[in-house]
Amino acid sequence: MNNQVIKVVKFGGSSLADAGQFQKVADIIKRDEARKFVVPSAPGKRFSGDTKVTDMLYGCYGIAEMGGEFLSMFEQIKERYREIICGLSLDYSLEDEFDTIQTNFIEKAGRDYAASRGEYLNGLILARYLGYDFIDPAKVIVFDENGRFNPEKTNEILSKELKKHETAVVPGFFGATESGRVVTFSRGGSDITGSIVARAAEATIYENWTDVSGFLMADPRVVENPKPIKTITYRELRELSYMGATVLHEDAIFPVRIAGIPINIRNTNAPEDAGTMIVPFAEAESGSIITGIAGRKGFCVIAIEKEMMNAELGFGRRVLQVLEDNGLSFEHLPSGVDTMCVVVNGKELEGKKDQVVNGICRAVEPESIAIHEGVALLAVVGRGMRNAKGTAAKIFRAITDASVNIRMIDQGSSELNIIIGVQEEDFEKAQRAIYAAFVK
Ligand code: ASP
Repeated sequence: MNNQVIKVVKFGGSSLADAGQFQKVADIIKRDEARKFVVPSAPGKRFSGDTKVTDMLYGCYGIAEMGGEFLSMFEQIKERYREIICGLSLDYSLEDEFDTIQTNFIEKAGRDYAASRGEYLNGLILARYLGYDFIDPAKVIVFDENGRFNPEKTNEILSKELKKHETAVVPGFFGATESGRVVTFSRGGSDITGSIVARAAEATIYENWTDVSGFLMADPRVVENPKPIKTITYRELRELSYMGATVLHEDAIFPVRIAGIPINIRNTNAPEDAGTMIVPFAEAESGSIITGIAGRKGFCVIAIEKEMMNAELGFGRRVLQVLEDNGLSFEHLPSGVDTMCVVVNGKELEGKKDQVVNGICRAVEPESIAIHEGVALLAVVGRGMRNAKGTAAKIFRAITDASVNIRMIDQGSSELNIIIGVQEEDFEKAQRAIYAAFVK
């Protein structure tokens, strides 16, 4: 075990979009000497309407791959980095790196390679600016030949490597196969790298610095001025992220969860804010039963009715088989004695409705089957719900008082969340009503 306090800090694209942001980042890092390992994203948007370097790289490589004239676009990418270097008054040049990348684009090194150069170059500048070592993720973040991330091998190699460095920058978003082919995570994947580095470093905490002061209890576009969430458990966060809370990449939770390391979401532009702590376990905060509300539109409910359904062996399996045969996964499955509802993603069902309905009719011969479209799901999440009586009643009273019709109810077996289906046009109204009922 490690007794030293080590903090792994990840900075998102908007935190490193230009020289001014780099200075803020360096100030934050230098303020605490436990901040030893830094994971940067590629330069993000400097203002609304700006383009992220990652998107420029995808675009530029797309042209190169077709044999088109990509140099003028590549020049714009180089300019973004030159501006940062110049703005920081660094005596440093990336021109040789640019030449290598250009050659590799012509030789069609791959889309993932192209996108990864955004964090690679940003990492080189940041390491230089901080006076930290640079670790190339292609040597320490391991993917298999099918492009799947190998967590155990990575942890073995990376933890050994980190021990050789007092302080280091490890760019986010990518790694490589053992044969050296660069592979990226999905978009927003630097969050995952940060988590992987935190695990390998046996960090005390993983700080994820972004441009908001953590998670809010509800969507600020729907609820006016929602309160910030101080503490949330990994499991609660999974529920909220699935429903659309998007501050952190979903897969970033797994590596630190294995090691029980908390994540602290912080704001580079308001470093004094405490942000949100994401922890393995937590007592419910006094006075608050719910942790947050999130929701998504665009679901369809397939409602099936058949008397004595409960006694029919294999009923559910046959219904789900029809979905599987049509390449559909289900999101929720609330059921009654003689009814079964299958909630699916509306987009995925498009163009397949008749096939699915006919398939279910053949498979289980229901008395009735209907598809309700335009359903929104709302998840009310909170570790405090398990011990609080009357939470469900309070939610339904609030929704009913707002004259919203409830289409579906589903409580997860962990009693961590209650999911409510409403018509899409009632989505905002229902969310505001629940928030007002619980948050004073
Ligand atoms: N730069 C990558 C993206 O834009 C990865 C990241 O920022 O996490 O998705």
